[in-house]
Amino acid sequence: MKNAPITNGDGEISALYASKMVPAYTAMDESARAAYRRKQLLRIVRYAKTHSPLFADLYAGLDDDFKLSDLPMTAKAGLMERFEDWVTDRTVTLDGVQEFMKNLSNNGKLFLGKYLVFRTSGSTGAPAVILYDKGMIHVTDAISWERSYPTLLDRNNFFMRRCKSAAVCADPGFNLGSGMLIYGKSVNIFKRFGSRLFDIFDPIPELVAGLNRFQPAMFGGYPSAMTTLAKEQLAGRLHISPLLVISCGEYLSANMKETLEAAFGRRTINTYLCTESGAVANECPFGHMHIHDDWIVMEPVDSENRPVARGRADKWLLTTMCNFIQPIIRYEVTDRIVYHDEGCPCGRTTPWVEVEGRTSDALRFRGENGEVEIIPSLIYILLDNISEARLFQAILHDENKLEIRLVANDRERTFEKAKASIGEYLAKNGIRAHIYLSDVPPGPDKSGKFIHVRNAPKA
Ligand SMILES: [Zn+2]
Repeated sequence: MKNAPITNGDGEISALYASKMVPAYTAMDESARAAYRRKQLLRIVRYAKTHSPLFADLYAGLDDDFKLSDLPMTAKAGLMERFEDWVTDRTVTLDGVQEFMKNLSNNGKLFLGKYLVFRTSGSTGAPAVILYDKGMIHVTDAISWERSYPTLLDRNNFFMRRCKSAAVCADPGFNLGSGMLIYGKSVNIFKRFGSRLFDIFDPIPELVAGLNRFQPAMFGGYPSAMTTLAKEQLAGRLHISPLLVISCGEYLSANMKETLEAAFGRRTINTYLCTESGAVANECPFGHMHIHDDWIVMEPVDSENRPVARGRADKWLLTTMCNFIQPIIRYEVTDRIVYHDEGCPCGRTTPWVEVEGRTSDALRFRGENGEVEIIPSLIYILLDNISEARLFQAILHDENKLEIRLVANDRERTFEKAKASIGEYLAKNGIRAHIYLSDVPPGPDKSGKFIHVRNAPKA
């Protein structure tokens, strides 16, 4: 470890350091781990205070013996208002990033030759723009390589099958999955030949034919789309035999998991990702999603921001200790979780987490030849790609009436764009829908949960 340079000089974690420290942390005893976590936290806090004018304001007068709970909480809206003070590179401007994102083919390319660009979903406000420096990419890659495979044998077998990975996600759109995959292919020879993106907007027969030809060893992506493909496998049209089936980017329901496992005969490994931090947690063989607490801190809190020691929490605060371009420290994440620290038979001592559902059931439209199920995330992505929509929601009512709720500067024009893109997609699937702009603002359902795209409750 002594010879591995921690950073590349600009505060970025070096590839060598990430690839050494991810396995090294697993082997440490608890006191060494605690010391390591403290060192990680100090490094990002010091860097933020010195290089981000926003954090310099927040941390004025802070010295090195702070407790994490001494630091002010942060939230997306406030940080985005001061985006250019938030980032630690003075050449980064919000206009510059937005100009870059106008060209969808820039997905997975480096902004200013240095940073990957992603857009978050906006469940509690406008989406945020998140930059990853190369150190963040190195850590994400190291975690994926070290912690995705249930056993070393699985990892070896994956390697023997030439690391052939199929990612079922949306392209383009500056989302984490496709952006990391496209970037990975541009810099890594194994990924260039081994990884392939299957775009969930392509027709199902095309996806099936493509997967049959490709024969992936790893099959991963949005579980809603993967479940649709699992039904194709069960129907005898898809014939793949992945060693690894990995669900990411969306909530994996018990029904989806059952269908995936029936189709592919492999345990589906669930992961918890968020755009602001990359990998948050990975599932162990006992079905528990262990937090990567060497690179992120998860602080569960209740709705009044009071700490929750264990169990059910309304939301949590995220601290990411590997991304130096845009510090994420005590940042509010509005997913409801159940936090566990009671140990696990797998032997990992890190805490683990259950995440409550973030997606709804398939939308059930009436098509020309009967009912047609549409994956909610497809409608979500179409709306998310309309940059003028600051906040949105789509709710399907009876008789194919699709209500669009919108916050935007020019609601009418933004709605016309949304209607055109959703209408075109539905028409391709044999669905004629009445898409209309609602006067109701986007908001939570009766249970208090904000779901972007859902069926209306039955009367
Ligand atoms: Zn475990």
